[in-house]
Amino acid sequence: MRTSYDVIVIGAGPAGYHAAIRAAQLGLNTACIDKSLGKDGKPAYGGTCLNWGCIPSKALLDSSHKFVDANQHFAEIGIKVGKVSADIPKMMAHKDKVVAQLTGGVAALFKGNGVNGLPGTGKLLAGRQVEYTNHEGAVATLSAEHVILAPGSVPVDIPPAPLTDDLIVDSTGALEFQSVPKRLGIIGAGVIGLELGSVWNRLGSEVVVLEALDSFLPMADDRIARDGLKLLRGQGLDIRLGTRVMGAEVAAGAVNVSYQDKDGDQSLTVDKLIVAVGRRPYTEGLLDPDSGVNLDERGFLYVNDLCATDAPNVYAVGDVVRGPMLAHKGMEEGIMVAERIAGQKPLVNYDCVPSVVYTHPEIAWVGKTEQELKASGDAYNVGSFPFAANGRALAANDTDGFVKIIADAETDRILGVHILGAGASELIAQAVIAMEFDACAEDLGLTMFAHPTLSEAVHEAALGVAGHAVHMINRKKK
Ligand code: FAD
Ligand code: AMP
Repeated sequence: MRTSYDVIVIGAGPAGYHAAIRAAQLGLNTACIDKSLGKDGKPAYGGTCLNWGCIPSKALLDSSHKFVDANQHFAEIGIKVGKVSADIPKMMAHKDKVVAQLTGGVAALFKGNGVNGLPGTGKLLAGRQVEYTNHEGAVATLSAEHVILAPGSVPVDIPPAPLTDDLIVDSTGALEFQSVPKRLGIIGAGVIGLELGSVWNRLGSEVVVLEALDSFLPMADDRIARDGLKLLRGQGLDIRLGTRVMGAEVAAGAVNVSYQDKDGDQSLTVDKLIVAVGRRPYTEGLLDPDSGVNLDERGFLYVNDLCATDAPNVYAVGDVVRGPMLAHKGMEEGIMVAERIAGQKPLVNYDCVPSVVYTHPEIAWVGKTEQELKASGDAYNVGSFPFAANGRALAANDTDGFVKIIADAETDRILGVHILGAGASELIAQAVIAMEFDACAEDLGLTMFAHPTLSEAVHEAALGVAGHAVHMINRKKK
């Protein structure tokens, strides 16, 4: 085995594998160490995102959405179906197949691009030496001109709800249920709690979501969060805000959850409990005390804006460093670092990181919320447009939600875009592109959008910033 490299990446999640592939594409001799194993016990590149995160959750969200459509909405548009039922093992098998296809795809990309994939564990020593232990326990010391740390994150566990084998589970366990729990509790109404809650609610569970905060999705625009909460509750998700879980005990094959709300002590019995209270950076066993890399006060690897750690030529990217814990943010950081090592000068624009909650309707946003702008005292204009007035949304019988665009009152530059609606995860890319190019709302308004598309709601919201939306009543007084 080769022991000296231009670049060694530790971790092959989205942040690490993007860094490794880009570095190899740029002609750097690159190795990527990753310890994850797939269900078949074989090395599985792709990290949380491909194995236990973005991809399997979206497979189940898409399948369960189609199930609800067939069960509840086909009849509304004239499609009669017989009795619709969910085959959970088959749904899981489809999800597992997609995961295997994509993790195998990363291995193929490593091979094709010349990345040395090294299954096992990496530990950073002093002077950019890396201790590599393979899955058979053999240890080798490797060295590199540059090291990129991308070890990712793991679910947070909380003392009141310790995980058990299969009744109290984290997000990973919640992607593996082989039958639909009749009563399902979820601690945490964050993105992951809402997505998993949606999956199992759609498949027939009675879902109660316990959220300590009084506000719902506080990082989203207030109006989007308010309308989103109403729609999700309307689907049957029993989201209880201001409820702090104090304990969870398994008894007689069920879980008794105790929690407090404004009225005092409460309890709830469920068949399964999902703990979805966030994720924390994962650095166990990663650093030798002499590595020169420091952590910040919250346990993240400390880096500057360019993802450089305190150790020369050692970088860190993805969930293990500050910023939103999102796959695409890590991917862009990984690419930036690889290209900088190769002498290029890219930057990550942290003001343009899109966020998406893949519920139905989806919730997506980029940039500033209206409440943030209000708090900072900046003057702004808002244009918004409901999908109920969009021809394509009506044709598709899927009209919940709206697009809201906020622009600077003086320069008209777009400051934030917030979308609640079917396809919001795709539509938000238009806003990201516009903001990346410093567009004004007028620029979007002057752009031609294909008709009939959901995207026209973005166009109309942009026109609405100056009061020009066409499919709205907007008469000038004579
Ligand atoms: P990870 O993906 O966590 O990968 C790190 C890898 O490094 C792992 O394979 C790990 O085993 C390995 N590793 C760690 N330490 C070592 C070591 N010392 N030696 C060798 N290998 C090591 N984000 C989105 O953007 N969109 C979504 O829709 C989305 N959905 C999600 C759904 C769920 C249920 C979950 C849990 C997460 C979701 N996320 C989503 C978050 C996303 O998965 C993470 O932001 C992303 O995976 C982080 O990428 P990363 O490369 O930093 O780390
Ligand atoms: P996120 O970090 O976005 O995944 O969200 C996790 C959510 O879990 C946050 O909104 C927290 O307020 C919530 N949370 C954390 N601990 C508890 C608890 N003990 N009871 C209820 N909710 C909690």
